[in-house]
Amino acid sequence: MKNLNITRTGQSRLDSIDYGNLGFGKYFSDHMFVLDYADDTWGEPRIEPYGPMDIEPANCTLHYGQTIFEGMKAYRSAKGGINLFRPYMNAKRLNRSAAAVCIPAMDEETFVDGIRELVKFDHAFIPRERGHSLYIRPFTFGTGNFLGVHASSTYRFMIITSPVASYYPEGLNPVRIKVDEEHIRAVRGGLGQAKTAANYAASLYAGMQAKSEGFAQVLFLEAVSRQFVDEIGAMNIMFIIDDELITPPLSQGSILPGVTRDSVLHLARDWGMKVSERSIGIDEIAEAHRDGRLQESFGTGTAAVISPVGEFVYRGESLVINERRIGPFAQRFYDTITGIQYGEIDDPYGWLEHIPM
Ligand SMILES: *Cc1c(COP(=O)(O)O)cnc(C)c1O
Repeated sequence: MKNLNITRTGQSRLDSIDYGNLGFGKYFSDHMFVLDYADDTWGEPRIEPYGPMDIEPANCTLHYGQTIFEGMKAYRSAKGGINLFRPYMNAKRLNRSAAAVCIPAMDEETFVDGIRELVKFDHAFIPRERGHSLYIRPFTFGTGNFLGVHASSTYRFMIITSPVASYYPEGLNPVRIKVDEEHIRAVRGGLGQAKTAANYAASLYAGMQAKSEGFAQVLFLEAVSRQFVDEIGAMNIMFIIDDELITPPLSQGSILPGVTRDSVLHLARDWGMKVSERSIGIDEIAEAHRDGRLQESFGTGTAAVISPVGEFVYRGESLVINERRIGPFAQRFYDTITGIQYGEIDDPYGWLEHIPM
């Protein structure tokens, strides 16, 4: 990367990380990537020690939430070196999220190069255990200091990384999901398609309530109909009914275009499955369940890859799926996607960006 300015930490934290108990997003690697925007242009990139930043109390992001993020992972490849999975999709999505909240776009190559440089520099932090990985969190936020409601004229793009365990230590455990008719995460015309802070703030209350009732997550419904399914907070949702894979369409207006979602749809079509991106009502799902035609349901996202649903609860009715066991489709998607990510099986789709070490 051109003009990359590097300041190495004097005190590595590598030894302080408990690799047997990583959890998710608890530990951070030694360095961070920083790129500032001012005078209508992105400046010169730098890598510096991970640590606190000075923020003024009037920082506009603290007040008005002008901030966006991405989420992806680096994997140690069975063939040696490091794999990134479809990072240009994240670059494109960051720019779409940016446009939604008036943040300036950045060059896709700068985004991917920044990730490459930081991951190479902190490669010692990438866990060795299969299923574990280095979670990568790029984000951009307004750095202006003012209290009027308007877009900032200065921004900071950063990348931090975190060694993480596989999401479900004891394997793919089907979870209980509450179908929430009351709370809305996002609505057509709003920010649902952008990875921006507001959507996650909007989902916290419903999520906390559901957890206190013994559920793992909430299935949000589309705001107007309160009938069509939307998303599970930070995962897209899929159903298999009569051997057909069904997921809400991006055109529904509040669906985050997941990289994992796109990968599953791609594989399913390649395998000759019937695939429908269409709105699907919770009543239709309940009816398919009663008729014994609802074979599987699972969430998709970078963190867990595939997260099988063992049970939905909707208006007091319990829809138990596949006797709370992971189904064959979910297992096959999981095995194929993670197999490609870890370099264990061929990558016929050109999804990997390999970083030789
Ligand atoms: C990040 C995210 C997803 C999953 O996207 P992936 O690219 O597959 O990780 C789904 N829904 C929401 C709301 C998200 O923020």
